[in-house]
Amino acid sequence: MIELLGKSLVELQSLFEEHKIQKFRAKQLIDYIYHRHIFVFQDMTQFPKMLRDWLDANCIISIPKIVAQSISPDGKTQKLLLELIDHSRIEAVLMEQHYGNSVCVSSQVGCAMGCVFCASTQGGLFRDLTVAEIVGQVVLFSALKQEDIHSLVVMGAGEPLQNYDNVLQALKLIHDPITFDISYRKMTISTCGWVPNIYKLADEDLPITLALSLHATTDETRRKIMPVGSRYKLDEVLEAVKYYYEKTQRRITFEYILIDSINVSLEEAHELGKIGKEFPNCHVNLIPVNGNEHINLYKPSSKHMNIFKDIIASYGVSVTIRKEMGDAIQAACGQLKAAHGRKEEIHE
Ligand code: SF4
Repeated sequence: MIELLGKSLVELQSLFEEHKIQKFRAKQLIDYIYHRHIFVFQDMTQFPKMLRDWLDANCIISIPKIVAQSISPDGKTQKLLLELIDHSRIEAVLMEQHYGNSVCVSSQVGCAMGCVFCASTQGGLFRDLTVAEIVGQVVLFSALKQEDIHSLVVMGAGEPLQNYDNVLQALKLIHDPITFDISYRKMTISTCGWVPNIYKLADEDLPITLALSLHATTDETRRKIMPVGSRYKLDEVLEAVKYYYEKTQRRITFEYILIDSINVSLEEAHELGKIGKEFPNCHVNLIPVNGNEHINLYKPSSKHMNIFKDIIASYGVSVTIRKEMGDAIQAACGQLKAAHGRKEEIHE
């Protein structure tokens, strides 16, 4: 069967031409999928019966299936546990912000990176997501909300820069005015520091925002909580991020998880302030670790987090502590999946 989700207009046109179907039908198909949210071929009534039957016999549109969901008490954050065509499971989140709907998508099933504070990596990497599966998460939320999607972050399960080609192709499709028309400036890719592909992304000349999961200010601590720290030294990572900034002039976001007794000393706050100062207009996002029965790590006291934040701010760096809506809805990466079992490990 041919997967139609995730195909560009040009790809659909050439597929249709190849099968002696009029080219203009490709545009209509895109309208059905991305704007009218009709995924059943027989409901595409603008198409002649013969075409609907041909599509039924030869093609699929694999919208991920909702297995479970949690909604924050204020109703503004919705997290979905989704099942893919091979029964693998991933998570996606919709956040209603004051400026519009923001969707956070996964890029892989599981993750190979092994960050100690992350539930998504506990079963290792199962596989990369296809372009269709990445785009499908956005299509699903847009169908559920029946509203425009304003922005997109690739910050769910997986290291997006390890699934580089599919993530880029998905973002290009989501950017296309014929689908969601989301500007690259409203897209963020979050990486744990996969150095070669930070350079590669910078050279694409797309104004995508880069978020670096920094989480430590020394190689020693970084290695302890992020195994990728053994592969790429902090200096190498920051040099790559600097190149990204200079090439794109996009404001860099540094993600920094706050873990009691691990990475929150006052010296580390000063170091983080100094790092931030090197990147004009950057933003430091402090994230209290979301401890639970799967992850035996704890956040510092509110008082300590505020002192930590104030030190960074004293360097003239923009810094915020992320609102902890995650506690209520298990919004930290991988936790909803952990609560419902790890299907990709069971399904072989
Ligand atoms: S935090 Fe991100 S990169 Fe690290 S293990 Fe989790 S999904 Fe992978």
